[in-house]
Amino acid sequence: NSEDGQAEDYLFKIVLIGDSAVGKSNLLARFARDEFYPNSKSTIGVEFQTQKLNIDGKEIKAQIWDTAGQERFRAVTSAYYRGAVGALLVYDISRRQTFDSVGRWLNELHTYSDMNVITVLVGNKSDLKDAREVSAAEGKTLAEAQGLFFMETSALDSSNVAAAFRTMVKEIYGVLK
Ligand code: GDP
Ligand code: MG
Repeated sequence: NSEDGQAEDYLFKIVLIGDSAVGKSNLLARFARDEFYPNSKSTIGVEFQTQKLNIDGKEIKAQIWDTAGQERFRAVTSAYYRGAVGALLVYDISRRQTFDSVGRWLNELHTYSDMNVITVLVGNKSDLKDAREVSAAEGKTLAEAQGLFFMETSALDSSNVAAAFRTMVKEIYGVLK
């Protein structure tokens, strides 16, 4: 901003979407606070959390929105999506049903937000190797077909969590700068 002579500030609204219990709130808790809740209920979600990232020497604020569990009732509202420039669309690799819902989430995202919203498809719970129902190849194929970025993550063991958020913010910055 002009007061301290720095270049302009960036604030990106990013929304977390995907079926209930896929790990959205825990991905945010891991990324923003390095915390994990083994038995979390839908109530742990905050409305949004702002996280600073440094990309190419620029300070970028990612304002990451989490649902308060309303996705259980398919009642995520247009206000949630309004102004979003990025979306993390999460499914659970150990529950195929949550992967089957990805198309419905994409429709909703495109109904309520800009068509150009940068979207990362995230297969979460990669630590649950023995319970896997969706292969990484399937996730990647769907992402490519839909023009999405793709990553598997684990909020439990932290793998790829920061990378998923950073990829998102970097791509948004790349488009806007
Ligand atoms: P949300 O409804 O999508 O926000 O899902 P939550 O973040 O509340 O997580 C639902 C459940 O899955 C909780 O019991 C979490 O502890 C668990 N969970 C979330 N992420 C992971 C993960 O990466 N691995 C494993 N094993 N469990 C997870
Ligand atoms: Mg939640």
